[in-house]
Amino acid sequence: MITSKVDESLALQAKELVMQANDIVITAHVSPDGDAVGSTLAMCHYLKSLGKKATVVLPTAFPAFFKWMPGARDVIIFKDRRREAITALNQADLIIAQDYNEVKRLGEEGMPNVVRATKCKKVMIDHHLNPELFADVTISYPLMSSTCELLYRVLQIWNGGQLVQKDVAECIYTGMMTDTGSFSYNSNDPDIYYIVADLIKAGIDKDEIHRNVFNNYTADRYKMMGYALTKMEIIPEYGASIITMSRAELNKFNYRKGDTEGFVNMPLSIKGVCFSAFLKEEDNLIKVSLRSQGEFPCNIVASENFNGGGHLNASGGEAHGEQLEDVAQRLRDALPRYKEYFDRELAKLTD
Ligand code: 5GP
Ligand code: MN
Repeated sequence: MITSKVDESLALQAKELVMQANDIVITAHVSPDGDAVGSTLAMCHYLKSLGKKATVVLPTAFPAFFKWMPGARDVIIFKDRRREAITALNQADLIIAQDYNEVKRLGEEGMPNVVRATKCKKVMIDHHLNPELFADVTISYPLMSSTCELLYRVLQIWNGGQLVQKDVAECIYTGMMTDTGSFSYNSNDPDIYYIVADLIKAGIDKDEIHRNVFNNYTADRYKMMGYALTKMEIIPEYGASIITMSRAELNKFNYRKGDTEGFVNMPLSIKGVCFSAFLKEEDNLIKVSLRSQGEFPCNIVASENFNGGGHLNASGGEAHGEQLEDVAQRLRDALPRYKEYFDRELAKLTD
């Protein structure tokens, strides 16, 4: 049995808003990952089973290896189908915000202003620290490994503990799997495995979901990974690693959205590395992805240097108006400020 970690009255307040609404739009953060796509589609299927009109609107496209998810082809991408997305948001009588804690995480294509201007009720279901209190009901549990895990717990309250439908279960499993690196970090809560057991009972094929997400890459992506590893810079005195990829380097490998997913995790497999940074040149910004091991707070590095945030061990941010190499140098120069944290992690190393 999973423990009741979600405040029941809060979950029921959210359910009340759902029951009062007929036309519901579900949103998640820019550059949606498995948890963002999985949790919004899971909610969408659940709401449709209640007879509601439900639409997922995401700020930008998601990687092709999530297209197999039930309902993925019906998602409206704000950046690509702006008019339809704005109409859906303006017509909604409830907007559900999942897997993001601040409206500005809806990206730079204008979606934050559209959402802010809507008058309808809002519900947030999220697992990031420091939620912005813009919703009427905020269900925020930063200790949970994924929004999908949190959503499963909320749905258990909403539906009186019954098993969820298979399409809901498939989407929830995807987010739980991707946000824990296939249950290799943030995954010590025994409840996670009770939930997985329930999802299997609901009919999912967890091995197939793993294959759909992780065995669906192009050969170019693997060649790019090899190239990225040859470029990897290790700074042993801090146990830090930095990888940069310029637009020209990405183009050389026919970069497609999602191709660099997971690159930032690779250096953490090296003994003595507790902090990894991956810097990628995008259209008009440098995207910074950070990962760490143990107690090293990479979210502090993200917020203090890259106007970002996230979780203790997985965070990110952005740099605008700077060259890729200048951002990398800024990060190298910043490392001494976190010496105390690095030393604490390095002290844990055994021979
Ligand atoms: P990723 O490196 O996979 O893009 O992001 C990892 C985590 O870092 C995300 O789940 C999110 O919590 C956080 N994150 C990434 N980019 C940003 C950003 O630009 N701003 C904030 N506040 N958090 C971010
Ligand atoms: Mn998440």
